[in-house]
Amino acid sequence: MRKADVIVIGGSAAGIPAAITCRRHYPEKSVLLVRSEKQVLIPCGIPYIFGTVGSPEKNLIPDAVLEKNGVDFLVDEVIDIDCDSRVLATAGGEEIGCQRLVLATGSVPMVPPIPGVDKENIFPMKKDVSYLQHVLDVLDGASDLVIVGCGFIGVEIAEECRKRRKDLNIKIVEMLRHCLQLVYDEEFCFKAEEVLMDQDIDLLLDEKVEAFLGDGKVEGVKLSSGREIEADMVIMGIGAAANTGLARKAGLEIGPTRGIQVNRYMQTSDENIFACGDCAEKVSFFDGKPSGLKLASIAGMEARIAGANLFGPQRVNMGVIGVFSTMLGDTAFAAAGLTETLAREKGYTIIVGEAEAINRHPGGMSGAAKLKVKLIFEAGSRVILGGQVSGARSGGELINGISACIHQRMTADDIATFQTGTHPALTASPIVYQLVNAAEIAIANSWKLSTRWRMPG
Ligand SMILES: Cc1cc2nc3c(=O)[nH]c(=O)nc-3n(C[C@H](O)[C@H](O)[C@H](O)COP(=O)(O)OP(=O)(O)OC[C@H]3O[C@@H](n4cnc5c(N)ncnc54)[C@H](O)[C@@H]3O)c2cc1C
Repeated sequence: MRKADVIVIGGSAAGIPAAITCRRHYPEKSVLLVRSEKQVLIPCGIPYIFGTVGSPEKNLIPDAVLEKNGVDFLVDEVIDIDCDSRVLATAGGEEIGCQRLVLATGSVPMVPPIPGVDKENIFPMKKDVSYLQHVLDVLDGASDLVIVGCGFIGVEIAEECRKRRKDLNIKIVEMLRHCLQLVYDEEFCFKAEEVLMDQDIDLLLDEKVEAFLGDGKVEGVKLSSGREIEADMVIMGIGAAANTGLARKAGLEIGPTRGIQVNRYMQTSDENIFACGDCAEKVSFFDGKPSGLKLASIAGMEARIAGANLFGPQRVNMGVIGVFSTMLGDTAFAAAGLTETLAREKGYTIIVGEAEAINRHPGGMSGAAKLKVKLIFEAGSRVILGGQVSGARSGGELINGISACIHQRMTADDIATFQTGTHPALTASPIVYQLVNAAEIAIANSWKLSTRWRMPG
């Protein structure tokens, strides 16, 4: 029987960093990564195969990253786990034993039980090279594309399909009132909608899909308003469900959002088996309640916790903040933590600060573009709860700085006075630096609400 100290099942955003982290922390341990697909897609790059990148073959994670870090890998499907003996069985007929096991089996796209959803040319976004090549082939012959879901996946695919096919009719159907509404406050959603409509992408908001129409192949979509729209191709971009079949079969505990239940060390209900990424249960950083967020960035964070903890507790998962970024047209949109709307819904009293400035000084420097930052703080403690950014490309990195502020539970005063690096060719001037100014403005706004200590007289 083949043996490895550690086996990781899954070769994507969670499996790879879990294996590499284990090798870094425990270089004496052998690590075998088992994955079912021959070629691994860069999951977040999938929308870009429809336009910018051009094909699934150009959107792959190279195996060299495993080889370079001393991780062995096997392309096979694990079909059974015996938790007591820690032996796995694969579809290829292998039995492999280990001391520790990491489940990074990911997720599968959600397919809601809408009548007609199984018609031909309706495509959930599977992470599979040959499947996506078929989707591209169908796209090249399509006239009317309907995308269901106006979240990140839906808007990115719509824009990329427009890049590929100027003559294609593209409609996005979204049951919420705005595109990207779960992640941004209204003013940012309006901006994103404008960018999409400028590219001749029709937005059918506040509309639910009632049925897919057609004989065998999809021919149309019936909406909750009674309207029927033509469609010879449909792409579903409405979220993903944890892939837990193997874990269930092995008898591991499943959590409230149907992920594999883990503790804050990423251990499952079996202490020798860890789970991370889309397949694992999550809690919110803010209130510790179950969270259904599934992101590659979260998968990586959890994998680095699981990998380090395999032979002793070293790291603790603080829960998911939720950090998103995308680029629509020439505008970056990014968000971390709670929106103003969500914070109010959760019962927080909040203060908000916004600052917009050119990301260069003087503004005539090359690469100059506006960058807007909005920060949300809990009013009493002034601890940061969330941030949103739109404008210049540098917003994609700035949001990671904001996420670090949230993670460290920094206050508005901490952010207003922390030491930044600025440069004419790289950032806004220190006088108008957006992050610091948004915090200052929130503090100024807080005086209107506050009973905090102030200078007498
Ligand atoms: C179109 C699209 C765009 C996205 N864009 C972004 C983005 O911009 N930013 C972001 O943060 N997130 C994005 N995401 C989400 C991101 O893709 C996921 O969060 C991420 O892929 C999760 O990684 P994972 O390793 O947990 O799971 P997966 O990527 O689902 O990988 C699961 C792995 O497990 C393997 N596996 C499963 N079962 C078995 C078995 N029985 N035996 C062997 N191997 C098995 C699979 O073969 C695969 O290698 C996007 C998702 C999609 C679909």
